Amino acid sequence: MSRVFNFSAGPAVLPEAVLKQVREDIPDWHGGMSVMEVSHRSKEFIAVAETAEQDLRDLLSIPDDYAVLFVQGGATMQFSMVPLNLTGPGDTVDYVQTGAWSKKAIAEARRFCNVNVVADSSDSNFCHIPPESDWRLSEDAAYLHYTPNETIGGVEFHYVPDSGEVPLVADLSSTILSRPIDVSRFGILYAGAQKNIAPAGITVVVVRKDLLSREREQVPTLLTYKVYAESGSMINTPPTFTWYVAGLVFKHLKAQGGLEAVAERNARKAAKLYEAIDSSSYYSNPVSKDARSWMNVPFVLRDPSADAKFLSEADAAGLRNLKGHRSVGGMRASIYNAMPEEGVDRLIEFMRDFELANA
Ligand SMILES: *Cc1c(COP(=O)(O)O)cnc(C)c1O
Repeated sequence: MSRVFNFSAGPAVLPEAVLKQVREDIPDWHGGMSVMEVSHRSKEFIAVAETAEQDLRDLLSIPDDYAVLFVQGGATMQFSMVPLNLTGPGDTVDYVQTGAWSKKAIAEARRFCNVNVVADSSDSNFCHIPPESDWRLSEDAAYLHYTPNETIGGVEFHYVPDSGEVPLVADLSSTILSRPIDVSRFGILYAGAQKNIAPAGITVVVVRKDLLSREREQVPTLLTYKVYAESGSMINTPPTFTWYVAGLVFKHLKAQGGLEAVAERNARKAAKLYEAIDSSSYYSNPVSKDARSWMNVPFVLRDPSADAKFLSEADAAGLRNLKGHRSVGGMRASIYNAMPEEGVDRLIEFMRDFELANA
């Protein structure tokens, strides 16, 4: 296998060991067929689904009073499912606006209820997190929604906000499984798979069971959490292949020592990349130090006219997909769980060489 270091923001790099397993399992998984070719109701696939759920429960220490759902439609569909399942018309909901993804979540929620934006960092171009003490929470919000990691801006909460009795809802798409979290602090967690879990096509939703009965009338069956909870997420045909790969990734993370070990590695990878950026006068990262993401590291070159050269030389060095999001410019290195530490080391080396040659 000839692999490059892939810094894509998503769909993103998968563990090499998992890709190997997938290759072995195709075309002969349980006797002459691949997992893609069997019924989701077969006992072989039910075992895949149940094991994946249990492994995820083990990794995140998910308490028994939470349901784990596997849903299609991406994190974007959760932007609508959350309000449709937790509110009635006219209800008020609280949202923290810290970047492009929370903005999208807010725009969607506005179609269904009154959205109160409790804090907004657009005035710093989404480069910091407004202090929790300044948030203007509603008296009667149905929930408080935030985005623990803003994938585009590279802004991450390194704490869990205190929402009191109000259910806390979090879009963990680009940070789930990067470190341990206390699930009992949340009402709902959701994450699209294609950053830290699996190929695109599945979204993990963890819901506290008492919230399953809150949905409004006339919500489509496939947008109703309870339906997924009561059917083992098999009310219709689920994306079986993605679910299977997710299961392999969960097993892989357990074998690596679980999320404590994963977090230690992620912290180290991020620290050395930020250190390389901060210690140079050629590269910079605009995000306030207490809110820098472990997973997505944007940076700009002092001379943006060198961007194209940086990218083409990085490409040639086997360091791929470093171009920043079009709304931010510059570069972005996404260093998810499956990015080996060696990839970060190689990137840092490349950046130093490029600076020496071009500064
Ligand atoms: C990628 C991403 C999304 C969108 O995910 P889709 O699966 O494409 O809908 C939403 N939120 C965050 C934080 C993301 O990183």
